[in-house]
Amino acid sequence: MTIISKDISKAVALLIAEDIVAIPTETVYGLAGNIYSEKAIKAIFETKKRPFFNPLIVHIPSVDSLSTIVDYIPKKAQLLADAFWPGPITLVLKKLQNIPDLITAGKDTVAVRVPNHPVTLELLNQLKFPLAAPSANPFSSISPTTAEHVETYFKDNIKMVLDGGACKSGIESTIIGFENDEPIIYRLGSTSIEAIEAVVGTIQIKNKKEVTPDAPGMLERHYAPKTITVLTDNVLDSIKKYSDKRIGLLVFNSEFESEAISSQIILSKNGSLEEAASKLYDALHQLDHQDLDVIIAEEFPDYGLGKSINDRLKRATKR
Ligand code: AMP
Ligand code: MG
Repeated sequence: MTIISKDISKAVALLIAEDIVAIPTETVYGLAGNIYSEKAIKAIFETKKRPFFNPLIVHIPSVDSLSTIVDYIPKKAQLLADAFWPGPITLVLKKLQNIPDLITAGKDTVAVRVPNHPVTLELLNQLKFPLAAPSANPFSSISPTTAEHVETYFKDNIKMVLDGGACKSGIESTIIGFENDEPIIYRLGSTSIEAIEAVVGTIQIKNKKEVTPDAPGMLERHYAPKTITVLTDNVLDSIKKYSDKRIGLLVFNSEFESEAISSQIILSKNGSLEEAASKLYDALHQLDHQDLDVIIAEEFPDYGLGKSINDRLKRATKR
């Protein structure tokens, strides 16, 4: 049975025994295992039903430990690590030879970050090995932002969820790769483009569709509720279109009034994109459990974290 617990020493014991444990981070909950344990890493992929071609993110306790994972640190990678770690930025860099191929899907690069969560930082400090941790959800479903979300997903399939409360950022890390030492955004996420550009200057975006070159197009649907979800810049029009259905509405900052709406969640009454991002997945989880016919999601402003929220909503609407 899954145990939701705050006991870090219990998580340490399970991880040393090559078991897997769900852990809190500031972005979403992760499903963690020792990066050097083939048994643990295989269990992560199997539990998530994640295809092996989709690599995992390595979590380390400090900027200093980066040199135990990667072979070479471009200047702008060091600048980003110093500026944002601990925090929701993942760097994809050339791996050291001893980093297992299972973690990197056979690539010669590895994704790595220092998470900004006191419980998981304490856990990492007590362990002698880094943790590989993809999001703690079945492959392509909505990411978990509370211990209860994880328990609902995995019930008896994992032994422990280390409880660190609700995730503060609420969407996944921004992933940055390097080509000729220049940073490139591979996945939009919890650190805004504007914040990154303030540190390293103008940055190119190749917001990959969670695909590897050998598996084009397969992973466009991601972060998705079971309920049909549509994204719109005209909420009233969409309400009209689905007026004979049970509608759940997911909006940014202002309430819509219509008898056709069965349920409505406003993500941030003050119009804060940060607050909206932190509540996005929990809102999708809630709406997905309300026996609705359709979730109508309002498109967000196209700047700051609004861009990252739109990216996740787009993937949630793919069928
Ligand atoms: P998740 O932890 O579930 O958010 O997924 C981790 C994501 O990190 C993967 O889906 C990839 O998009 C990305 N990633 C991990 N390792 C690499 C790598 N070596 N090169 C490019 N992208 C990577
Ligand atoms: Mg994921």
